[in-house]
Amino acid sequence: MACIFCKIIKKEIPADIVFENEDVIAFKDVKPIAPVHVLVIPKKHIISIVDANDNDVLLMGKLIMAAKKIAEDLEISNKGYRLLIRVGKGGGQEVDHIHLHLLGGAYNV
Ligand code: AMP
Ligand code: ZN
Repeated sequence: MACIFCKIIKKEIPADIVFENEDVIAFKDVKPIAPVHVLVIPKKHIISIVDANDNDVLLMGKLIMAAKKIAEDLEISNKGYRLLIRVGKGGGQEVDHIHLHLLGGAYNV
């Protein structure tokens, strides 16, 4: 499996992991564009939202709820933050494994 995020899930390459449960793992983006920049990903390899199906509805909800918890733990909830999912090449997606960007810690993210 050449997917870099799957390698992070399997701990084959290092990452600064901030959250993990049975279905989801989250780690700091290696090139942050905000004071808080965390990537929240499903442990299941799904290339993009285009490839998600009805079986993934609960998992997609878990991604958002994990992001909510991480934002609370990092104390950025009261100020607000942004959740971003890029979809496909036209959406600027560079890594072909669904990931939700949690961006916060500043007023302009
Ligand atoms: P996207 O453009 O939405 O596909 O975002 C991919 C993100 O993954 C970028 O913000 C990269 O900085 C980040 N990224 C790529 N490789 C790694 C890695 N090994 N560890 C942490 N973040 C990464
Ligand atoms: Zn993957």
